[in-house]
Amino acid sequence: MALNPPGAVGLGLEPGLIRKAIAVFKDKARFYRYPVYRRAALLLEAFYRLLSAVCFPTQVSSSEYPTVARLGSFEAVAAHCDRSTNPYVDYYENVLFPYIASSQARVVGISMVFAVQSVQALVLGRMPKERFPRIHITLGGAYLSQWVLLMKDDQLFDLFTFADSVICAEGEKPFSELLERVINERPLGGLPNIIYPDRAESAIRRFGVLEYGVLAELPPPDYSDLDPGSYLSPEPVISYCISRGCYWGGCAFCQNRYGDNRIRRYQAVPVEKAVGEMERLSEKYGAVHFNFSNDAIDPVYLKRLSEALLAGGQKFIWSTDLRAESFFTAELCLQLARAGLNCVAIGFESGCQKTLDSMDKGYDVGILRRVMKNFYDAGIATQAMGIFGFPGETEQDGELTVRFPEENVDRISYYVMGLLMVLPGSKLYDNPHEYGVSSISFEQNPMMTPEPVWRSDIRMSARSVNALYNRLSRLEEQFSINDYPYVGAIVHQTWLFLFHTGSRYFKASQTR
Ligand code: SF4
Repeated sequence: MALNPPGAVGLGLEPGLIRKAIAVFKDKARFYRYPVYRRAALLLEAFYRLLSAVCFPTQVSSSEYPTVARLGSFEAVAAHCDRSTNPYVDYYENVLFPYIASSQARVVGISMVFAVQSVQALVLGRMPKERFPRIHITLGGAYLSQWVLLMKDDQLFDLFTFADSVICAEGEKPFSELLERVINERPLGGLPNIIYPDRAESAIRRFGVLEYGVLAELPPPDYSDLDPGSYLSPEPVISYCISRGCYWGGCAFCQNRYGDNRIRRYQAVPVEKAVGEMERLSEKYGAVHFNFSNDAIDPVYLKRLSEALLAGGQKFIWSTDLRAESFFTAELCLQLARAGLNCVAIGFESGCQKTLDSMDKGYDVGILRRVMKNFYDAGIATQAMGIFGFPGETEQDGELTVRFPEENVDRISYYVMGLLMVLPGSKLYDNPHEYGVSSISFEQNPMMTPEPVWRSDIRMSARSVNALYNRLSRLEEQFSINDYPYVGAIVHQTWLFLFHTGSRYFKASQTR
């Protein structure tokens, strides 16, 4: 992206300032000084606001871009192949496409993990497809996987004006096989997890049943073609998929399946293999920080992992998502902290036992409080994530959820509250009436993206939700950082703060 977009002059933001702000994100000495970091982040946000003015009506920030659902049609998405609409096109044309041309690539794979990536992923498919017709463009990623499983054939034909194939769900094996087929100019029929257009027959070809890989047999990630220095981060953080799926797998709202297909089996990398791979990854990329990109890892595994890490004497710093199980005693949390665990993300969901039970969360509020304290007191930062709006939740129930961070400031480092969505792949979506959802509709969503409109006769009113959010905002005085992702999710900057400063860092008194 150009750091000096046309039209920037005269709007009160010097392009040189942005370069200085970016330098802060890459400099350890300044990055970890919160006031300096905060100023750089504000400058970057100001730059994006300026960019939004230049590309009006496209609204863009460091972590947001209009989604396909918001644009509402493939024609509107295609308009984002133009530099006047999409500020990233300049980078694609001047940097990325010359690189693709020089690499003589036969296949380009593009991930669409989150809705916010949906438009850029399609643009990144369409533009090279037009410039390099011999290159096979394949799309994948969690968001797209959910989306294509909802699409009718005519929508898929539209999608395939942006790409040549889609790989659903886990992609390691299908993508490897796709590479082999394309390079040897063989047809794609029979590949696992693939959807593609059969243009000769004017038909869409879909896989039969989704296949999932065996994590223990997969190689570690290979980031050797990425430049860690280009991320807005003072030190590299390695994303490492140490487990897949969820050993609990019961929460009604959780999108833990793809379409009508079966729930993902929980699996974790065997402990010895995981420790060996972390050592080699750390050495190869000069990094000590690991973010375990997983759903929810089981506590017994974490105990064994921490024992192995301590026995090996390696000093890694790592973070993970997990469930607040009573297994996490004060003693175990201290052991995990000694083994390098620095931050945990816990979906507490609600402070109301009745709502937790309706969600099939399998939590006891008392245990939740105790476990969060055990982590926090061990110096492990706790991210608490909650949800408003589950069917049957009243404003009084929601108040208990607001009171949860209020009353547990002594054990929560950072919190985030979202609104319930009824997502394809969840129990709520499959059995709506069982949970009080009266209807699920895609009427206002012609692209069939996986964000249906849902209704419930026992749903909290918008006025009540607003009142709860207003009350929650009063907590901001005690929590300094409560934007998520703060700047640039890819580099886990919020995690990095926690890595270095421990559980109390996000409290206002610690950052001023
Ligand atoms: S919300 Fe978390 S704990 Fe619940 S099923 Fe999903 S991954 Fe598991």
